[in-house]
Amino acid sequence: MFNGAILIGASERHSGTPFHAINPATGEKGEVAFSSAMPAEVEEAAALAEAAFETFSTLSPDARATFLETVADNIMGIGDLLIETAMAETGLPRPRLEGERGRTVGQLRLFASYVRLGDWLDATIDRAMPDRAPLPRADLRRVNHSVGPVAVFGASNFPLAFSVAGGDTASAFAAGSPVIVKGHSAHPGTGELVARAIQAAVASCGLPEGVFSYLPGADRSLGGALVADHRIKAVGFTGSRGGGTALMKIAAERKEPIPVYAEMSSINPVVLLPGALKDRAEALGAGFVASLTMGSGQFCTNPGLVIALDGPDLDTFVASAAQALSGAAPQVMLTPGIHQAYEKGVAALVGADGVTTVARGTEPEGVNRGQAAFFATDRATFESNPVLAEEVFGSSSVLIRCGSIEEVIATIAGLEGQLTATLQIGSGDEAHAAALLPTLSRKVGRILTNGWPTGVEVTHAMVHGGPFPSTADGRSTSVGTLAMMRFLRPVCYQDVPDALLPPALQEANPWGLTRRIEGKLDCAA
Ligand code: NAP
Repeated sequence: MFNGAILIGASERHSGTPFHAINPATGEKGEVAFSSAMPAEVEEAAALAEAAFETFSTLSPDARATFLETVADNIMGIGDLLIETAMAETGLPRPRLEGERGRTVGQLRLFASYVRLGDWLDATIDRAMPDRAPLPRADLRRVNHSVGPVAVFGASNFPLAFSVAGGDTASAFAAGSPVIVKGHSAHPGTGELVARAIQAAVASCGLPEGVFSYLPGADRSLGGALVADHRIKAVGFTGSRGGGTALMKIAAERKEPIPVYAEMSSINPVVLLPGALKDRAEALGAGFVASLTMGSGQFCTNPGLVIALDGPDLDTFVASAAQALSGAAPQVMLTPGIHQAYEKGVAALVGADGVTTVARGTEPEGVNRGQAAFFATDRATFESNPVLAEEVFGSSSVLIRCGSIEEVIATIAGLEGQLTATLQIGSGDEAHAAALLPTLSRKVGRILTNGWPTGVEVTHAMVHGGPFPSTADGRSTSVGTLAMMRFLRPVCYQDVPDALLPPALQEANPWGLTRRIEGKLDCAA
């Protein structure tokens, strides 16, 4: 009956209540019956992950990097089947998915190169001072260890780059954590193909089978059971605010509470400063709409809020944006549920007091198509109605007309935490920009000027995070090599004999690491 599997370590099961993918472009149910994991399979997968932990977390950097590279190679080895399957399950177009596959394997390879460098171990040595007066000092050596097995919840909107082998899984593997993925119910075929690629990499690299398990399912109790399992030591999540906070609650109520790194909700303010509007209001209108409507607006960095000083140049921006938006073709949204949530969010804005509809995209034909929307209001209305500051996942944005730069700053100060903030600056805006930056830096994880927030590079310096509710922990990022730090914790060894120390801390430095010795960097040869 089942064509879809649950992967537990090296084995597979076909069981549970069957569920099907839905092609959002047609609304049709897929033919494949996918298996649903139950709490018993969580138990099995967690036991295997725990058993794999010691071996996997103490691999040499090179061995772990080779594993990450093998996962990347295996994903490419799936070929076009992966793209075709993802297209049918998400409605996303081929070029977008091919790009996302490139990003996914690029991300795995970036982590591999970073793991080999060894900086993330932060090996730090303060040698003993036996002659120090009045008391001798012990030998102290510190290194980062994996926190333990990690649970990953894949996202609906990035079926590859933020899903089974996405950034959370790649960074957890890089840190030495076995991973159990709760597959997203919207793209189970895509998820299983990638999961099998990881399973094959675990086997060919000779790693313990529990390094990876894949638990598909559409029942909320599955994710809850996974987060509650005592062997899971951290969670990576990308999705809704409701889902993320539900999992945070479960994690906080455990006998041993654990961190949930949830990336949830952000409206990504864009500030249009007067000089920028004077210099290029029309181009800004077109650029804004291109960013707003990209991928049907289903990006966590979608520009859902525009803040600007009122005046004729802002009117030019609005006219340009309205023109571009009214020609924006409706695009298929990821799932019927996401489409319904979008329609509901837009309907709340259409009917809100003091809010005008600047423009709508063209009328949709066919199911699950999102019709873009741009609204405008004044600051007093925005301040009095919290609904206007809520994320509407999709191509919807609200413009706030302000009377002064002080009002712009106060509006930003009143926002919840955000992933990004964008400043459009032009001639004469330097003082305004300088006045805004301190407030922005307290609110967001990434500040950009004269660009658009959609599009997140995977690099060493990237921060894709921000204060709550953009993420659960504003000290972290889910994109870029810094994402590994979420799954590491420092351990200090005091007066431990050299032969018993982890290789990263041994005097001979067998891994050839750059280390901090007596406070000074000791560079690898
Ligand atoms: P989601 O519903 O939060 O689901 C993400 C993952 O978490 C899925 O695997 C889901 O399981 C699981 N999950 C959600 N709530 C749970 C709970 N209470 N207990 C256990 N597991 C739970 O996010 P989504 O599917 O990406 O998007 C759904 C809605 O989130 C959309 O309507 C959208 O408005 C909003 N949203 C998404 C994003 C994003 O970046 N993805 C950003 C902002 C808002 P199932 O597979 O069973 O659903």
